[in-house]
Amino acid sequence: MKEATLQTSLQNWGIIGHEHPIDLLRRSLAARRVRHAYLFTGPEHIGKTLLAQRFAQTLLCTNSPDPRIAPQDPCNTCLSCRKVLHGNHPDVHIITRPKDKQFILIEQIRELQSDSSRKTLEGRRNIFIIPGAHEMNLQAANCLLKTLEEPEPDVVLLLTAPDAGLLLPTILSRVQQVPMHLLTSEQIRTALEQRWEVEPEEATLIAALAAGRMGWAIQAVEDDDLLTERKELLETLTGLPAASKVQRFEVAQRLSADADKAHATLELWLLWWRDMLLAANKSLDLTVNVDMRDLLQEQAAKIGSAEAERMVQAILQTMEALEQNVNPRIALEVLMLDLPTIR
Ligand SMILES: [Zn+2]
Repeated sequence: MKEATLQTSLQNWGIIGHEHPIDLLRRSLAARRVRHAYLFTGPEHIGKTLLAQRFAQTLLCTNSPDPRIAPQDPCNTCLSCRKVLHGNHPDVHIITRPKDKQFILIEQIRELQSDSSRKTLEGRRNIFIIPGAHEMNLQAANCLLKTLEEPEPDVVLLLTAPDAGLLLPTILSRVQQVPMHLLTSEQIRTALEQRWEVEPEEATLIAALAAGRMGWAIQAVEDDDLLTERKELLETLTGLPAASKVQRFEVAQRLSADADKAHATLELWLLWWRDMLLAANKSLDLTVNVDMRDLLQEQAAKIGSAEAERMVQAILQTMEALEQNVNPRIALEVLMLDLPTIR
């Protein structure tokens, strides 16, 4: 296919980057070799569910010369495409973990099985999307296996997970894996400027903080609070090396009150100290917190590379301790004592 035509086709998918996974799906569509199950893998906020939805849309798109065969790209205009885009196509089912439950339950998979044995309502395929398929408990996973072993002819299952290793090997052997990778910050920056009309300076900052995850970048554009909160939190954290022990413990207490917030804070803090390590090694241009490079340089000159590296390790250990349900307040207090002091 000519370069220009290919570009237009990719545009119809409405996805930034991820040319390889899209290409893999387009080839199976072109060869009419659509498998019964696919697993999209990659980090959080990278666009796994979005790609699964676009694939479902293409499988059901009616804008093709032969109405029995799916086109290679979604048209985005036919009634079927519009229904999938609006989330109300009767042949696209989405199965997620209930908010108040730890796992996707066996009852949900049984419902999938009874739905999949029925005829499709409008389209030519019965599609089941399971975002976070690693959240199935063993019972649910074994139940799904039955569907994978003997799928109804028109059924397509689209699973997503951060890593293939989180699923049972018996499931993995029956799915086509579609690995997705982080975008470059340049890809994200360009997309933010061109498609979301973000000002260059803000686009550069968001692209750096997004660390390759387009979904996170879009969230940051749509929700102003995300960047404001980051700034406020960083101001507290970066002031800590000059703070007294009492002040540090106050912050530890405040942060430990909410487990999700403690985790997000540690992630932010980790990025900050990785930047500190870079700044101490004369690589300021590689730092993520582009809007705070002056402060980074100033603190790095006082703290030095060895101490910065020690802090990176200490934060990683604290994150690990929290994963293993260590008391968050104690873990954060220990970290506060590890923090170097600047006078
Ligand atoms: Zn269509």
